[in-house]
Amino acid sequence: MKKHIALVPGDGIGPDIVREGVKVLSAVAEKFSHEFTTSSYAAGGVALDSVGIPLPEATLDGCKQSDGVLLGAVGGPKWDTLPSHLRPEKALLGLRGGMGLFCNLRPAILYKQLSDACPLKKEIIGDGLDIMVVRELTGGIYFGERGRTEDRAYDTMAYTVAEIERIVRKGFEIAQKRSRRLCSVDKANILNSSQLWREVVQRVQSDYPDVEVSHMYVDNAAMQLVRNPRQFDVVVTSNMFGDILSDEASQITGSIGMLPSASLAEDGFGMYEPIHGSAPDIAGKDLANPIATILSVAMMLRYSFSLSEEADAIERAVNSVLDDGYRTADIYTDGMKKVGTSEMGSLIARAL
Ligand code: NAD
Repeated sequence: MKKHIALVPGDGIGPDIVREGVKVLSAVAEKFSHEFTTSSYAAGGVALDSVGIPLPEATLDGCKQSDGVLLGAVGGPKWDTLPSHLRPEKALLGLRGGMGLFCNLRPAILYKQLSDACPLKKEIIGDGLDIMVVRELTGGIYFGERGRTEDRAYDTMAYTVAEIERIVRKGFEIAQKRSRRLCSVDKANILNSSQLWREVVQRVQSDYPDVEVSHMYVDNAAMQLVRNPRQFDVVVTSNMFGDILSDEASQITGSIGMLPSASLAEDGFGMYEPIHGSAPDIAGKDLANPIATILSVAMMLRYSFSLSEEADAIERAVNSVLDDGYRTADIYTDGMKKVGTSEMGSLIARAL
């Protein structure tokens, strides 16, 4: 298979970790006889420094013309005082909007080798966790009508049937590829938009008879995630609920440097990135954990290129390197072997 990938390393540790992602991608290409070419584009602080805006047109065009985008992270103290339209984070919104990325996949995986990092009791997490939060990304309250007078402010949560249906169908499709269990999270006891959400799930459900569906109110879901997280497999929900629940789920794993994410468009095109930020405190010091980015590469292979075998191989390689006791500083515990960003990338590439 031949694919062209747009790299957007960004700021801080972005270049350090994207380099390792590419290392593993090249190893996959060699092992499975694929041809993956790459081009690099500026976004965030580096783009502000070079051309004065966070998302140059050439970057968006280059990403749109690619078969998939691998992003590091953007932002840092150097650009924190700029006016909001010039903040590095604007690049992320511009990329998501510009490429129609409406579906955000946030896996929360707790590796058994790192179970000490989980803040929950051992009997709650058993031998690990693997939850996939499917979050609507371009609608809902973050994009609804809003306003403010001196003593009153409002935001509106609005969803159309079409907006709900396309994200819910993604949830069902992903559940079909996993354990065939889907939990739809809403607040249908109070919100009109959630009642519509639930109606759509109930209608669409008949197209996926092999998937077992449950519904949960968001307040209960927030509680169940810490009380009994193993009951969840795939969770599908709206923009704001997904934002909050996916962060909660990621904290349960305790390792921010381990978690990938994907933002998908209708046709399967996607942008893949670690969930963490640009970690300016450790940038360029060979200290960053590249695993979240490497697992983002695995997600790209699985969701945009339908290369499941290759994606499985990367995930197995990560597991085997963890089994062998190698750890970057953020996940290091006594008795393990401490390695830097570049060595961790090389170990995973070799373990393929
Ligand atoms: P952060 O995720 O960058 O860092 C939080 C802490 O986790 C830091 O101590 C950092 O060293 C550590 N950390 C993060 N990723 C790591 C990794 N891969 N390996 C080892 N340690 C890691 O969050 P922050 O400090 O709140 O934000 C720093 C900058 O990143 C800010 O400018 C923020 O706006 C930006 N940010 C960008 C994104 C993105 O690009 N998607 C997301 C969040 C924050």
